[in-house]
Amino acid sequence: MVMTDSEIIYLDNNATTPLDPAVIEEMLPFLRECYGNPSSGYAFAAKAREAVDLARERLAALLGCEPPEIVFTSCGTESNNAVINSVLQFEPHGKHIVTSAVEHSAVLHPCQDLIKRGCDVTFLSVDQDGRVDLGELEAAIRPETALVSMMWANNETGVLFPVEKIAELCRDKGVLFHTDAVQAVGKIPIGVRDTAINFLSLSAHKFHGPKGVGALYVRRGTRFHPLIAGGGQEDGRRGGTENVASIVGLGKAAERALEYLTEGKTHIRSMRDRFEKAILERVSGASVNGARAARVPNTSSFSFEGIESPAALLLLDRHRICCSAGSACRTGSQEASHVLRAMDSIGDRARRSLRFSFSRFNTDAQIDRAIEMVPKVIAKLREMTTPTQASAVSAAVTAQ
Ligand code: PLP
Repeated sequence: MVMTDSEIIYLDNNATTPLDPAVIEEMLPFLRECYGNPSSGYAFAAKAREAVDLARERLAALLGCEPPEIVFTSCGTESNNAVINSVLQFEPHGKHIVTSAVEHSAVLHPCQDLIKRGCDVTFLSVDQDGRVDLGELEAAIRPETALVSMMWANNETGVLFPVEKIAELCRDKGVLFHTDAVQAVGKIPIGVRDTAINFLSLSAHKFHGPKGVGALYVRRGTRFHPLIAGGGQEDGRRGGTENVASIVGLGKAAERALEYLTEGKTHIRSMRDRFEKAILERVSGASVNGARAARVPNTSSFSFEGIESPAALLLLDRHRICCSAGSACRTGSQEASHVLRAMDSIGDRARRSLRFSFSRFNTDAQIDRAIEMVPKVIAKLREMTTPTQASAVSAAVTAQ
């Protein structure tokens, strides 16, 4: 397939993904004619209720759990907050949480709030490849530990934590375990039934579903206190009239992701690997962050010697290539990534890194174009030898 110059090359799928057309089709009737409230008793509303049930079944199939173990929420952030809130409601004396220094702000910020409220939080460090030490984790768990929360896949580097092992360790110690799996769901096979995971958070817009809808897996038998109390929806676990069309979209996106995973398709991994290999060959002083760790198949986080990420983002944007310096939440901020700083506390990798993240909607022609343009952009930035030139570009980006 030949590309036009104006075509966008979207390589920022960890920030958000395009909606799958099949998801839109499935959602439309619930935005138009099937507007009933799933809680109403008449036959007209039954359609909405049945659609929510089907979405729950589809998502349960993707996660390898039972449908009643799913609670629909408004996003991954809400799911994470709900777990932390619930655990502390039930364990008022368990005033200690263990998490990692590289979590998304949707875990870090609620944990920082807890510290202000007198709770103790241990933020485990990671090695140069973003890996956590299980011995350190075990040593961090105390009698008063209420929860361990560790992400499944890192949003910036794609590095995977061994959450199944961590969950077993927590079960053996009698501590609840939560995983923020927002960047793992739909990208790697997941079967929670055979694990000791108590809670798992996910978000539809990371796997071609709509924004503003997520879910929380709550293992059968694990006590849960709702974050949002209200009309008893979601079996009393999340108040508020269901966002039917979006839940339907989440369900369809889950079904499509499961198809991709079970058919054993490798298109995403091969595009990512081809891109990574070509950039490493063509750009001197380039390295992959987390290269020696297990990673999700769609993410490439590079650091490039002699550049500043904001300037690189500006030039890539001019060539209609969308990628990011770290998480989307940080774009426009001068602060370097906390994830890359945790992996390289004495170096400056965090200031010169770019994240490229792929999806099944990317084409080989787009990868070819990116392989052609990224080395040119890096070379151009390195030519700008005067720091004034480079920081002028950086300033222009952060001002946007
Ligand atoms: N957790 C991780 C690892 C993420 O990458 C994100 C979004 O980037 C979130 C949580 C937040 O998800 P949402 O945008 O649905 O609130």
